[in-house]
Formats: sequence, C-alpha cells, structure tokens
Amino acid sequence: MNESSPVIDVRGLMKHHGQGQGRVRAVDDVDLEVPRGQMLAVMGPSGCGKSTLLHLLGGLERPSDGEVWLAGQRIDTLSERALARLRRRSVGFVFQAFHLVEELSAAENVELPVLLAGRSRREARRRAGLLLERVGLSERARHLPSQLSGGQRQRIAVARALANEPLVVLADEPTGNLDSAATLEVLRIFEELRSAGQTLVIVTHDERVAATADRLVSMRDGMFVDDTRLAGSHTRGLGGLIGLEG
Ligand code: ADP
Ligand code: MG
Repeated sequence: MNESSPVIDVRGLMKHHGQGQGRVRAVDDVDLEVPRGQMLAVMGPSGCGKSTLLHLLGGLERPSDGEVWLAGQRIDTLSERALARLRRRSVGFVFQAFHLVEELSAAENVELPVLLAGRSRREARRRAGLLLERVGLSERARHLPSQLSGGQRQRIAVARALANEPLVVLADEPTGNLDSAATLEVLRIFEELRSAGQTLVIVTHDERVAATADRLVSMRDGMFVDDTRLAGSHTRGLGGLIGLEG
C-alpha cells in the first residue's frame, strides 16, 4: 500500500445489473478520488446507485467495466480469496440494518473481525475494549444486540468496522433505521472519526450527516451530478486514530 496515493481511486466505473430489456446501469461511468482523511458524503434518490457504488469501492461487488484502486492497489482484478482478505483487513462496512451477529455479545461482535484477520484472542479483546470505550458502550460489552437500542447497535457496528484499522470506512445509510436522538449519537462518532483523520464514505439521506462531511457528491441514475467541497472542511490532526497500535 502506498502512503501518498488516494485511498480510493476509481476510473470509468460501470456496473450493470440484469440482462437485456431489464438491464440497469446502476453505476454509469464514475470517476472518483478520495484522498486520505476525507469524509465524503453521497446523496441521491432511492435507486440511483449509491449502494452499488459503495459495494464496488469495498470489493463486495465487481465492476462491469473500469478500475477500482485502494491505496495504490488495484482491487477489481483480485482473486476472490485475495479480495475477501482485503475486505476483512482494509475496509470497514457499516450497514443501515446493523448486521450484528445476534448470538454474540457486543464485545464479541467487535472481536470477531480481529480474530478473522488472524490476530490473537488477547489482541481481539484489547481492541474491543478500546473501541467500546470509544463509542461509549463499555458498560454494554456483555449485552446481546437484542438488549441494545438501535443507536447502541449502530455504535457497536461502527466499533466493529474499525476493529482492523481499515483504510476506509464505508457506511450505507448508517442512520436510516434510527430516530433523531439515536442519529445524533451515531453522528457524534462519525464527527470524531472525521477529526481523527479516518477516511470515510457515507451514503446518507440525512442532511445533518451530510453536513459533517468535507465533501458532498450527488448521484442521479448512476452518475455524479454534483461534487461540492463543504464549508466546514478543516485541516485535522495527524496521528493514531483509535490508538490500537502498541
Ligand atoms: P440506491 O442504494 O441508491 O438506492 P442501488 O445501488 O441499490 O441504489 O440500486 C441501483 C439500481 O440497480 C436500482 O435500479 C436497483 O434496482 C438496481 N439493482 C441493485 N442491485 C441489484 C441486483 N443485485 N440485481 C438487479 N438490479 C439491482
Ligand atoms: Mg441503497
């Protein structure tokens, strides 16, 4: 991985779904560069291709055409195995519906990706402890997802996304299932990540979430129709985000 390349660099990105008459161009010739430390918000009407774009950026789907580069490495041509490994180690996903493992405690949900990345139980526990503290849920470590509120579940999902110190966090309508108070809880964490220099791409319908970003792109019919640098953009401190190293 190259330190100076953009975290995300996408060229001529195309994704078709379906065949023949029913064929949809979900992503239609998109170019995108996301520099290290940028928080990018993506907005647009339902069905315009936002989720497909995120899936392509994170290697969950492969493009029909074009290239996807992550920190200087081309990922759309990787083998399934290499791609799975890259997703596990370098990308943190946050979904609207949380997708926590219901049988595992909050802490175990955060430990899981650390273990899957081949690290020790001890290291997994250490990281989960730090991350739960960071999202303000140390006291809920042993709770099951069903025993937590929506806002708390999503904060656990964010902690899980950060567990392997990903190059980029990709969030797909992370506040879409949350009420206003819970949205603010999650928003506060995204603001913190942004100030700490975490590279983030957030698909959102929520103006408040978009307003915390450095940059806003608007999508229609698989294309970018607007790309705006937001007034709130500021230079941020460098250094360890979650303090997982050492
Ligand atoms: P958004 O997240 O903006 O709502 P999506 O990326 O989910 O949009 O979908 C973009 C377009 O691609 C829509 O027309 C949708 O119906 C279509 N689409 C998405 N995923 C699939 C799929 N797996 N198979 C067929 N069509 C799909
Ligand atoms: Mg979507």
